[in-house]
Amino acid sequence: MIPIVADLHTHTHASQHAYSSLYENIVIAARKGFCALANTDHGPAIPDSPHIWNISKQKKLPAMVEGVRVLKGVEANIIDYNGKLDVDYSILEWLDWVIVSMHPYTLPPATVQAHTNAWLAIAQNPYVDMIGHCGDLRFAFEIEPVIKAFKEHRKIVEINNNTFHSRPESRDNYVSILRYCMEYEVPVAVSSDAHFCTDVGNHSLALAVLEELKFPPKLIINSTVEQLDYYLHQYRRKPFRIQSQS
Ligand SMILES: [Zn+2]
Ligand SMILES: [Zn+2]
Repeated sequence: MIPIVADLHTHTHASQHAYSSLYENIVIAARKGFCALANTDHGPAIPDSPHIWNISKQKKLPAMVEGVRVLKGVEANIIDYNGKLDVDYSILEWLDWVIVSMHPYTLPPATVQAHTNAWLAIAQNPYVDMIGHCGDLRFAFEIEPVIKAFKEHRKIVEINNNTFHSRPESRDNYVSILRYCMEYEVPVAVSSDAHFCTDVGNHSLALAVLEELKFPPKLIINSTVEQLDYYLHQYRRKPFRIQSQS
């Protein structure tokens, strides 16, 4: 089994369809020996998302809790097919970790061309770190040009464990995306998308797919502490180091 050292997509009960506190998520991450946990509640376009202040006030959070680096983040919603987001750039620019995702409530599924155009626009957004659950078949897109754009603009493609049990019909689509990530050497991150603390670090279905494909661990950014530090600090040019206090 590929080792994983951080969970880069988790929700708290600030998003009202999730059920644990940030501290509970951190405690589970610490128990699993993780070096980092990304706190990524939904952007405001989702109806039961937190108030935007919940996202924008994260500067108050400590960087390290229970030995775990807390990445202050968000899962922003893509709200039109030009790649518009529901969180202001003035917030995105200082967050540690920005995921963007397509959700049917905030972006009704359209055509393959429309989904492709949206991802090509998102690729050029400098504030976006990780491409959220893009294997979702409801938002199928032209994979090769989009993956090439993600490579060009240093995006990280999420392999979302939740997708594999919530939407198993999307598995083959995700596999196709991963094959192109291997071909173009696009880095990926495994994440749980936990909505309850016991799911933090639950990456088993995503890891099974990566192992089946013999996906190179050197492209899985959260498979070692050193790689995570490299991909955040150098590849995504974050000002902090993964294990520092600042
Ligand atoms: Zn999502
Ligand atoms: Zn999520």
